[in-house]
Amino acid sequence: MKLDVDVLRYLSKDDFRVLTAVEMGMRNHEIVPAELVDRIASLKHGGTYKVLKNLLRHKLLHHDSSKYDGFRLTYLGYDFLAIKTMVNRGVFTAVGRQLGVGKESDIFEVAREDGTVLAMKLHRLGRTSFRAVKSKRDYLRHRSSYNWLYLSRLAALKEFAFMKALEEHGFPVPNAIDCNRHCVIMSLVQGYPLMQVKQLQNPETVFETILGLIVRLAEHGLIHCDFNEFNIMIDDDEKVTVIDFPQMVSVSHRNAQMYFDRDVECIFKFFRKRFNLTFQETRDADDGSDVDTDENARPSFSSISKTAGFLDKELAASGFTTKAQDDIEKFIGGNEKDLGSDNEGSDDSNVCELNETNVNGVDSLHLVEQNVIHEEPSSSSSKMESVSEENHQ
Ligand code: ADP
Ligand code: MG
Repeated sequence: MKLDVDVLRYLSKDDFRVLTAVEMGMRNHEIVPAELVDRIASLKHGGTYKVLKNLLRHKLLHHDSSKYDGFRLTYLGYDFLAIKTMVNRGVFTAVGRQLGVGKESDIFEVAREDGTVLAMKLHRLGRTSFRAVKSKRDYLRHRSSYNWLYLSRLAALKEFAFMKALEEHGFPVPNAIDCNRHCVIMSLVQGYPLMQVKQLQNPETVFETILGLIVRLAEHGLIHCDFNEFNIMIDDDEKVTVIDFPQMVSVSHRNAQMYFDRDVECIFKFFRKRFNLTFQETRDADDGSDVDTDENARPSFSSISKTAGFLDKELAASGFTTKAQDDIEKFIGGNEKDLGSDNEGSDDSNVCELNETNVNGVDSLHLVEQNVIHEEPSSSSSKMESVSEENHQ
């Protein structure tokens, strides 16, 4: 998806105020009635409808008049809210090229004022799997939009919390810098996904390192659950960095053993195929592929001394609640139906900055001020598109 941040520079305070009003309205409306947007935004000089038209023109909102006249945020609208908040916080000042398109995310380069380049991951939970779910009215009821916002936000918070905790425990992960809404800012990993690496000087060493990481994660009570050549980055010195954490689970998860074995198997398989590593004794499986039968070569889940609870202790402090963990796990695990209607109250205020209590209220407005409408000077970086305002009063 193209992220045209040029528009962002030309959006006014009123534009952001109305955009934020739609976001607030979406907490309990799939489509937010125009009058409600107007009431929440309560622009000093009026003109909400004109602003709505402008936002619509820039594809930041979607208009729906099938039942009543109303609006909802688009991904782009949500991206802009997160980017604006980050820029206001001084996290970065410019957005550059797209680094990757993940299964459920878009990753872009962003630059700090001093030119340091960072990575911005915009979570799009529901992009691939959501459509399939969309027809299930019993699951979605009236809150399909609410759910993609909620789930993408949870995914970002989980990723941020895990990255930070793992970094603190000495794991080779990107440096977690900030998180807002569905957006995570982290250090840029120099190197390439292992998937793109055709040759290694020391494949055995890299293999051992990677396998060692799976074991060390389990010792810390965690399983990555998507530990494969797409989520392992390798630099020119063959240093390994692990990325992509929204699907991680605790070793006390009911399917822990299966997830652990699957991660291990992925690595064996990849190194066997790509780098021709051989593991003592293999036999042909029925489908003709090699199956490793030497159990001694593999780390065994049951023999690892695991410290469950790392997850709970270290992550609770970050605002990533057990309920949030449950919700996201149900979705990522494919049991979307379970998420059901009971997540209304779980739209945990810690998840992002919109921590107002008065959801319907017109006087949540001070929060709009806090969240989005601060402006800070920023400068552009050469290759990057600046996101600083140009036409603001
Ligand atoms: P997804 O959850 O959608 O799979 P990932 O976190 O795996 O997203 O990121 C997708 C791709 O973006 C990665 O394979 C990698 O190429 C790139 N990428 C992600 N994070 C970084 C980073 N911090 N630095 C450099 N590239 C990154
Ligand atoms: Mg990935």
